[in-house]
Amino acid sequence: MEIIVIGAGVGGLSVARVLLAAGHRVRIYEQAPGPRTSGKAVLIWSNGNAVLNDLGVSLDGVGARIDRIDALTADGRMRTSMNIAHATDRFGFPTKAVPRRRLLERLADGLPGDLVRYGMSCRSVTQDGDRVTATFGDGSTAVGDLLIGADGHHSVVRRHLWGDGTVQPADFGTWQGLSPIDIEITDTNRHFMITGREGACGLMPAGDGLLQWWFDVRWSPADRRPAAPLTELRNRFGRWASPVPEVLAAATEADLEFFGHHWNRVPRVWGEGRITLVGDAAHTMPPTLGQGANQTLEDAWVLGRELAGGGDEPVVRLRAYERARYPRISLVSRMAKRNPANWRIPPLLGRMVPETAQTAMLARFSNRLTEPAVLPAGGRDRHRTPPGPWPDQAPPPGAVSGCPIRRCCPTRRWRPTCRRRRSPRRSTARRWCRCDRCRRCRRRRWSPR
Ligand SMILES: Cc1cc2nc3c(=O)[nH]c(=O)nc-3n(C[C@H](O)[C@H](O)[C@H](O)COP(=O)(O)OP(=O)(O)OC[C@H]3O[C@@H](n4cnc5c(N)ncnc54)[C@H](O)[C@@H]3O)c2cc1C
Repeated sequence: MEIIVIGAGVGGLSVARVLLAAGHRVRIYEQAPGPRTSGKAVLIWSNGNAVLNDLGVSLDGVGARIDRIDALTADGRMRTSMNIAHATDRFGFPTKAVPRRRLLERLADGLPGDLVRYGMSCRSVTQDGDRVTATFGDGSTAVGDLLIGADGHHSVVRRHLWGDGTVQPADFGTWQGLSPIDIEITDTNRHFMITGREGACGLMPAGDGLLQWWFDVRWSPADRRPAAPLTELRNRFGRWASPVPEVLAAATEADLEFFGHHWNRVPRVWGEGRITLVGDAAHTMPPTLGQGANQTLEDAWVLGRELAGGGDEPVVRLRAYERARYPRISLVSRMAKRNPANWRIPPLLGRMVPETAQTAMLARFSNRLTEPAVLPAGGRDRHRTPPGPWPDQAPPPGAVSGCPIRRCCPTRRWRPTCRRRRSPRRSTARRWCRCDRCRRCRRRRWSPR
C-alpha cells in the first residue's frame, strides 16, 4: 500500500520504519525545514525500548541507564523509592534517559534519504472510498491508500477528524533544561523526583555529562511568561534541600524551555475510514509519567502488526489497531492527567509502596510487553514478544528471583502463577506471589475455584 505519514517526530519515524519493513511504500511530510536538532531528554522505559529493539533501533551508546527513581520531600527526606532495574531484569530492556535529538537520529538511521519531505506543512486532508489526499501549505497535494497523522500535539489531522477544542490545558507547566551540570547525580543511574508546596523538581542523568532538570509549576494558558523565569525559579525553589540550589545556580536562561501541559480524552475510535492517528495527535497527555514517547512507539508497533497481516480491508485493520491500543492508552492518559509526579506522598505511607511497583505498572501500560504479536512470515520474528512475566515463558537470563509484589519476602521464593478467570464481561489475567513465608503475599494468593 501507499501510505502517507504527516510529521517526522518519534511517531512518524517509528511508523515509517515498521511499515517499510512490512513492504509498504511510505512518504513522510514534515513542516520543519530540516531534521530536528534541539530538544531536551526523554525517558525511554522498558516498553519503549522493547519496541525500538523490534524496529532495529539500538540505544547503545546514547543517554544514561536509569536503575532507580527516588521521590524526595523538599527537605531531602525519602518519600518512595522505585527499583527500575527490576523491570530491566524482568523484561530484558533497560530504561534510559536519552536526548530527543539522539533518539530521532537513531530512528532516522538507515531510512531512505528521500523518505522525509521537509518544509511541507499539511493544511487539510480529504478521503473518498479508496484514496486519501493531503493538501500542503504550498498548494501541492499527496495521494495515498492510507494516511497516518503523526503531527503531534497541534495535529491538523486530528482537527480534521475530531473538530476543534478537544485538547485542554492540564493545570501545570514545565520549565526544563538539559545541560552539563557537575553534581553527583549526573554520573549515576538515579533519577530524583522532588516535590513540595512550591511544585516539583525532576533531576535525571542523560549521558555525556548532561543532566536533564525540570521544574513543574501551576500554570494556565492565561499566565504571562515571566520576564526572568530563572530568577523566579530561584526564588521559588532556591530554599529546597541540596542539590536543587546547586542546579539552579548552574542553570542559565538560555537553557530554559517551557511547556504547558495538555490533555485530551482518548476516544475509543480515533480514526475514520482510511485515516488514523499515532502519538500525541491521538493522545496528548502531561509528561508526568514520562510515557508520551513510549506510548507513541507502542502505537507504531501495534499499527505495524495490524497492517502487516493480510486479509481484512485496510480500514478494518486501522480500527483493529485503535481497538488494541485503547485500553492501554486510555489508562496511561488518565493516570498522567492525575499528575503523579506532583503527588506529595507522606514518607511513612511511601514506604508501603512496593519498590517493584513500576514493573507491574509497565506491564499494564504496554501492548508490546504483554501481547503476543501475530505477523505474517518474515515479520513474525522481528516482533515476537520476548520471555515475559507469564508462566509459559521462561524468565530472561539473570532475572531477579525475588518476590515481585513486595520486597518483604525474606526467602525470595516466589512461584509466578497465572490463571485466567473468564467472566461474560471480560477476562483478566493475574499473577500472584506464592512464597510460603510472606504473609502479605500469601493473603493475596490465587486459589482456583
Ligand atoms: C516537557 C516534556 C517532557 C516529556 N518527557 C517525556 C519523557 O520523558 N518520556 C516520554 O516518553 N515522553 C515524554 N514527553 C512526550 C513526548 O515528547 C511526546 O509524547 C512524543 O514526542 C510524541 O511524538 P509524536 O511523534 O506524536 O509528536 P512530536 O514528537 O511532537 O512530532 C510531531 C511532528 O509533526 C510535525 N508537524 C506538526 N504539524 C504538522 C503539519 N501540519 N504538517 C507536517 N508536519 C507537522 C512537527 O514538526 C513534528 O516534527 C515529554 C513531553 C514534554 C512536553
